[in-house]
Amino acid sequence: MEDTRELIEKYALQNAVKYKAAPNAGAVMGKLMGEHPELRARAKEVSPLVKEVLAEIEKTSPEEWQKRLEAIAPELIVELSVKKEPDKGLPALDGAENGVVMRFAPNPNGPPTLGSARGIIVNSEYVKKYGGKFIIRFDDTDPVKKRPMPEAYGWYLEDCNWLDAKPDLVITASERIDKYYPIAEELIRRGGAYVCACPQAVFKEHKDKGIPCEHRDQSIEQNLELWKQMLDGRLAEGQAVLRVKTDMSHKDPAIRDWPAFRIVTAPHPLVGDRYRVWPLLDFESAVEDHLLGTTHILRGKDLADSGSRQRYLYRYLGWEYPKVIHWGRIKIHQFGSFSTSKLRKAIEAGEYTGWDDPRVPTVRAMRCRGIRPEALRRFMIDLGVGETDISISMDSIYAENRKLVDQEANRYFFVWNPVSLQIEGDVPAFGRAPLHPTIDRGWRDIPAGNNLFICRSDLEALKVGDNIRLKDLCNVEMTSLEPAGARFLGKDVGKRTKIIHWAPADGPADGPAVKVMKPDGIDEGIGEAGIAGELGKVVQFERYGFVRINFLGNPIVAYFAHR
Ligand SMILES: [Zn+2]
Repeated sequence: MEDTRELIEKYALQNAVKYKAAPNAGAVMGKLMGEHPELRARAKEVSPLVKEVLAEIEKTSPEEWQKRLEAIAPELIVELSVKKEPDKGLPALDGAENGVVMRFAPNPNGPPTLGSARGIIVNSEYVKKYGGKFIIRFDDTDPVKKRPMPEAYGWYLEDCNWLDAKPDLVITASERIDKYYPIAEELIRRGGAYVCACPQAVFKEHKDKGIPCEHRDQSIEQNLELWKQMLDGRLAEGQAVLRVKTDMSHKDPAIRDWPAFRIVTAPHPLVGDRYRVWPLLDFESAVEDHLLGTTHILRGKDLADSGSRQRYLYRYLGWEYPKVIHWGRIKIHQFGSFSTSKLRKAIEAGEYTGWDDPRVPTVRAMRCRGIRPEALRRFMIDLGVGETDISISMDSIYAENRKLVDQEANRYFFVWNPVSLQIEGDVPAFGRAPLHPTIDRGWRDIPAGNNLFICRSDLEALKVGDNIRLKDLCNVEMTSLEPAGARFLGKDVGKRTKIIHWAPADGPADGPAVKVMKPDGIDEGIGEAGIAGELGKVVQFERYGFVRINFLGNPIVAYFAHR
């Protein structure tokens, strides 16, 4: 019995120290029986003993609990301190102990999307965790097919700041071409690259069959001369590319002698026609990762080939390849599959109002809709870096956001699809409603009277004779539906069938016209005058959802966030 008593004391103290409160009898019993099943049969005698021990412990102070626990069961203290919160989110990075250098490298052919937000947030979060450098690198060396947008560079930096992921360094590849040419030349000298003049279709045939083309065995001198001709314009666009020598019999044709540089004469939106020989992405990003000292790369697992190609380059040059984590793609139900180039076309065609249209999955659109950066951060971090493709719903982001905006959003009435309701009797001249249901922030006095607006959908659910509550105003009984009529019953008369909200009759002093842009359409109606004081803020339209007030005019324009 004596050791049972000591066991109880140990677990009771552990419980008390852990929660910094008098030990809980149920928890102590549970732990005791769980760890020592042999005591279960003796529960009847053990139970009063637990009470006795707990009563003694309660008489002593938390400092004494700690001391006593250290004395009788130090092993339980160790258990307490190593037990962490479950590691939801980002796993530890291998080899990150001395800090990391990580980059997010977009092609700025449009603003950041939700997919980019994931890359920005997770890379920068790792740098915050381990210390080091977070780099934004614009991989903008394709002047034609994925033509960069001059405005998009700034948009990326703006959205990074907004996402609390300010980069330590910003690099633009198109401004660093001069650094790449000497590396290409060195690669040729080391026998790692050759100038190939095969027409694309001809080389493809060679590649598919796995046989070298006639240019592969040119001497280093010949290659250096042809490279010079690419640079100085003696070779025209389409006449030659510089290829990295890999293995023409590699089992994956995508790895076989890949192109590193090609001639493009179209002007680049940033540097114009300063260069005519442009690196392809595999070369540019491989070289930059080395030049910048990148330690870890987060890369879509669909781009694994890229690493295999780049490793040849690293071997020729004697560089060490960064550690790579391959992660799965995310797909968002509500937006289906989207690409920046497709979006750009749709915007140019006028299908959307712009890059911040509430129907598009850009960070700017989220911002205009009142989604908080913290909501996106928490969500992306919780998602982790797993290798499986995941399909997510915006609802999870909305749930995070709701926790953040619910407290601060003032409440207002907005009547969408409004119909007029004429009320007979002494309807109060004002309705009085709190700005927030649980936090004391004052009141809104809403002009009322005998002529109000209600939602058509509410009217359609009513019958003549229904006693309804007009929220924060009065009770009425419906007397007709077409047109809608009612009679005043009293300011508050207990029994009723339904609560609906309302808006003052429209007019300059009463209810302003409000238009809500939603991902799936537009709602127009009448709101309260107070909405005009909320520009740039998130409010909740009662019985409707959270919106951000984006534009004051006639109408006031709000973007819908979520319910
Ligand atoms: Zn060739």
